[in-house]
Amino acid sequence: MESTVNEKKGNDFTNEQMERYSRHILLKDVGVKGQRKIRNAKVLVIGTGGLGSPAAMYLAAAGVGTIGLADFDVVELSNLQRQIIHSTADVGKPKVQSAKETIAALNPDVRVVTYQERVTAANIAEIIRDQDYDFIIDGVDNFPAKFLINDACVLLQKPFSHAGIIRFFGQTMTYVPGAGPCYRCLFDAPPPGVAPTCREAGVLGVMGGVLGTIQATEALKYILGFGELLTGAILTFDATTMDFQRVKISRNRKCRICGENPTILELFDEESPVCETR
Ligand SMILES: [Zn+2]
Repeated sequence: MESTVNEKKGNDFTNEQMERYSRHILLKDVGVKGQRKIRNAKVLVIGTGGLGSPAAMYLAAAGVGTIGLADFDVVELSNLQRQIIHSTADVGKPKVQSAKETIAALNPDVRVVTYQERVTAANIAEIIRDQDYDFIIDGVDNFPAKFLINDACVLLQKPFSHAGIIRFFGQTMTYVPGAGPCYRCLFDAPPPGVAPTCREAGVLGVMGGVLGTIQATEALKYILGFGELLTGAILTFDATTMDFQRVKISRNRKCRICGENPTILELFDEESPVCETR
């Protein structure tokens, strides 16, 4: 521990940290106790694109002690319109490296663990178990990976935030083991046929900001243990009309992974290879 520990207030944050997190500490539902929970938390962000960029940055700014970043990709110029954790000088760099540097500059309190690999049925459990992450952010851009994250979280009993964005639309929900439906309760499998990708369909850059920030909010609320999460509900956002809709959803007893007679007992990669919702 550093010598500047704030002994006056009997806590283990330095004066600098007390100042950095002062607007959190002022909150009744956070305080020093809550900030300590945030510091002790480990969040895995899968995908450092449109959704993962703002999610990881807000989690880092908030002081989440350990942030895992998983992404196999390198930064492309066409990413920069929405993937705000990366800068022009990062083009060509692995996304996890670029994101790690941004986080280090933002908040040196955060320990960043990187996984520069494509998340698959073969490695996802190992990645989640690597730091025994408390909460997972689904920031991926394709349906197979979204189902994989869901299945891994259900089987490993880990909470996660799902989000998807395309054009001017977004949706998000939170899964907490035992507390509500999973993603597969709503969408049994990737949509058949060729769904449009962001590359084909486009996406307004800010959509990742709106939805990814909600995902970070859910993670922080889960860590702090207050408020109402988006469990048993899906929130949709239409930027063309500025309509947010919170629709109640229930567990599907016939869900293939969290239902009464699950048939998905081990992880597998869904085949539908196309569709980016980032
Ligand atoms: Zn389910």
